[in-house]
Amino acid sequence: MNDLFSKFDALIAQREALLSTGITDPFSLVMEEVKSPTVAVCNGRETILLGTYNYMGMTFDPDVIAAGKDALENFGAGTTGSRVLNGTFQGHKECEEALKEFYGMDHAMVFSTGYQANLGIISTIAGKGDYIILDIDSHASIYDGCAMGNAEIVAFRHNDVEALEKRLKRLPADAGKLVVLEGVYSMLGDVAPLKEMIRISKEHGAMVLVDEAHSMGFIGENGRGVAEEQRVMDDVDFIIGTFSKSVGTVGGFCVSNHPKFEVMRLVCRPYVFTASLPPSVVATSATSIRKLMHNGNKRAHLWENSKTLHKGLRDLGFKLGTETPQSAIIAVIMPDLERGAMMWEALLHEGLYVNLARPPATPAGMTLLRCSLCAEHSSEQVSEILGMFEAAGKKIGII
Ligand code: PMP
Repeated sequence: MNDLFSKFDALIAQREALLSTGITDPFSLVMEEVKSPTVAVCNGRETILLGTYNYMGMTFDPDVIAAGKDALENFGAGTTGSRVLNGTFQGHKECEEALKEFYGMDHAMVFSTGYQANLGIISTIAGKGDYIILDIDSHASIYDGCAMGNAEIVAFRHNDVEALEKRLKRLPADAGKLVVLEGVYSMLGDVAPLKEMIRISKEHGAMVLVDEAHSMGFIGENGRGVAEEQRVMDDVDFIIGTFSKSVGTVGGFCVSNHPKFEVMRLVCRPYVFTASLPPSVVATSATSIRKLMHNGNKRAHLWENSKTLHKGLRDLGFKLGTETPQSAIIAVIMPDLERGAMMWEALLHEGLYVNLARPPATPAGMTLLRCSLCAEHSSEQVSEILGMFEAAGKKIGII
């Protein structure tokens, strides 16, 4: 028998070598108790959370929790069905109404996760003979959406406007084209030059999809994302997003003004062939989305946190993913995986949780400690976080 698992041998060996040094496994941490959007108990110790994408801290919002309890009481624990059969409850429609209002768009479609939203929309709208032109650092769900469909895939250098133009120029003028971009790229926390990229895409007759997973609720005057900030909302054909970050729940969506968008509900397999979100989840999500529309003060505080952490880490001598803070993600670049894992563990011992990110999820083979700030982090917590980075960085010898 040919053991189908032999293809994982190198990964298993690398993991065993790392764990044999006695290091805590960075990928199996348990949140034993969650006290607030910014504090949990891990390994029996109170820990500040700086790697959760809980940007607006909505997970413990009293109105959000009340809406979830009410839906659980009145609509039950689950829908036990697809959206196109018995799985569309009042709450799903309300959630889609909240999204249409939030984005000022005609159509909204809720999926069970953001991953499925990308998988479904990308694989369905770009078919045989069409082209998908995407940034090489795109999220796994975008790549998987491409792999599931039948379109030709063309990647261009990360955030490089000229590279995008070159690729578009080479494609047949009359072919269907979908340019896929992200507002904020989650590994380094950098923002895309959407204005230029969208202008060029339109000049070449392409439709544009923007994944705003990491900007919703935070970037742009109304929190609609980078497309709003760069004043190109009207030129974006599809916005993909998730409830698992600023909204603070779970789920995904696509909003669009395309007049034929509703046909997606019949042809998009990751929408049709899976159960819909539970009533409590759509209720908490709709309440959270509506509250995010009026969150100007929280957004300002989150920017303050992001700027303070970026400057503080740079002043300490850490190498960061961006020259200036561009989003609520700040990536600290580690010299290698071993020291990255040691630093991650040292921070955990200090009482701080960040994300350890490593290849293949990261660009250019980098090991990163990814920090994502929350509007509920107090200024005192941000100071404390900087103190923890200083202590851990000196202990490991990175600074
Ligand atoms: N798109 C991007 C850019 C993401 O970072 C993520 C999640 N990290 C997703 C989509 C998927 O979202 P979800 O967690 O809802 O599946």
